[in-house]
Amino acid sequence: MLASAVAFVDLETTGTSAAGDRVTEVAIVRMVDGEVVEEWSSLVDPERSIPPDIQILTGITNETVRGAPTFARIVDEVRERLEGHLFVAHNARFDYGFLKNEFARLERTFTADVLCTVRLSRRLYPEAVGHSLDALIARHGLADPLDAVAGGARTGRHSALGDARALLRFARVIEREKPADEIAAAVKRLLKIPSLPPQLPPDALEGVPEAPGVYRFFGVNDLPLYIGKSVNLRDRVRSHFTSDYRNSNDQRLSAEIRSLDWIETAGELGALLLESRLVKEVAPLHNAMLRRRRLSCVLRLPSLREAPQFAKVDEIDWDERGPGAEALYGPFASPRAARDLLEAIAAEEGLCWRLLGWEKRGGPCFARQVRKCRGACVGEEAAEVHNLRLATALEARRIPDWPFAGAIAIVERDATRGIEEAHVIRQWRHIGTARDEPDLAALAAVRRLPEFDPDVLRVLRRWLSEHPGCARALA
Ligand SMILES: [Zn+2]
Repeated sequence: MLASAVAFVDLETTGTSAAGDRVTEVAIVRMVDGEVVEEWSSLVDPERSIPPDIQILTGITNETVRGAPTFARIVDEVRERLEGHLFVAHNARFDYGFLKNEFARLERTFTADVLCTVRLSRRLYPEAVGHSLDALIARHGLADPLDAVAGGARTGRHSALGDARALLRFARVIEREKPADEIAAAVKRLLKIPSLPPQLPPDALEGVPEAPGVYRFFGVNDLPLYIGKSVNLRDRVRSHFTSDYRNSNDQRLSAEIRSLDWIETAGELGALLLESRLVKEVAPLHNAMLRRRRLSCVLRLPSLREAPQFAKVDEIDWDERGPGAEALYGPFASPRAARDLLEAIAAEEGLCWRLLGWEKRGGPCFARQVRKCRGACVGEEAAEVHNLRLATALEARRIPDWPFAGAIAIVERDATRGIEEAHVIRQWRHIGTARDEPDLAALAAVRRLPEFDPDVLRVLRRWLSEHPGCARALA
């Protein structure tokens, strides 16, 4: 048996794009404890015309769906039938994606454990040629001659109910032909069902949403173990506990975790900013990010006459930096990372190791001796020219001046979950995130900046370049 409650699902649609096309027919065959308890199907008015080639393929014409209910009218029926069931479909990503989009259009969410019969067939019958539904029907004799003549309802091949029934019959064949433990192992693997650590309650992962946000793992005495973020909390949290993804950090977390929680955000930026903030506040035991931050450094070029200098991020007075402040480059994860970049630039540009401050003694530098240095150490190039070439090569890594007059808000919105967040940012600092207008006004009025965080700078630079026009100036 695949699971105690299974829904075999098939959809017919107006095309192949889950975002643009619509459902024209849905069928659900429910099996509970191995018994079929319900067969249900409905035509659906797609609220748009069906392309001619699709009409021929499915036999569903514009005429067929005239007067059928829209998805909005059957959404509750569909949800009730699928709730608590393993969602089984052929090319399940297609059907699951379409249903999720139909729910999303109604500003509703839908989540299920999804098993794809294409992948199940591949795993259980690896030697078989072809795993399309037609191939399965032919190979395992899944066609039922009665389907085509059943009174009234559409039941043949390429009808939703006909295809859902074929999947049910495929499940029956598997049960006959394969040992139960082999089926269970295949299903578990395909679903990436997490093996929860025994000290966690069995329902610990229930309710984790397929939404962006931050999650936290706690150990004994609520000791913070780990903070992570994802655009899909459910998948990410589960992945820590599936053998497919397990690494040494996940093994340690599995052994030490006692509880977990999560905070939903409106979007990805909110998750990134919240993760960065919480990691800093809480200092979880197993976040490598924190260790990295202590080593974070920048590169200074105080003047064109001096060698470049490393500075720890904490040593810079970020609040004093206004227009025209000394150029800083980075941030780098560690002095080692900064040195690696400098060495690469030096090799490429023919820079001088003495002027870079790596050699103190006089005479030609090491790079000069191997004909790499253009000769700043032996007076063939002025120090200013040399350092200008260095600054030019580093330009891409220059920490930009804050490109706005004052604070900005970046708004993220998820209509489906009804969450809107405005992230208030000033001088590359995340002042806070507001969920309503009074909050936003309060954050906009904050004068004292939080400590500079190189991770926030990195996140914001990338976000602003990938989402031009996302920033709204705050008065
Ligand atoms: Zn040199």
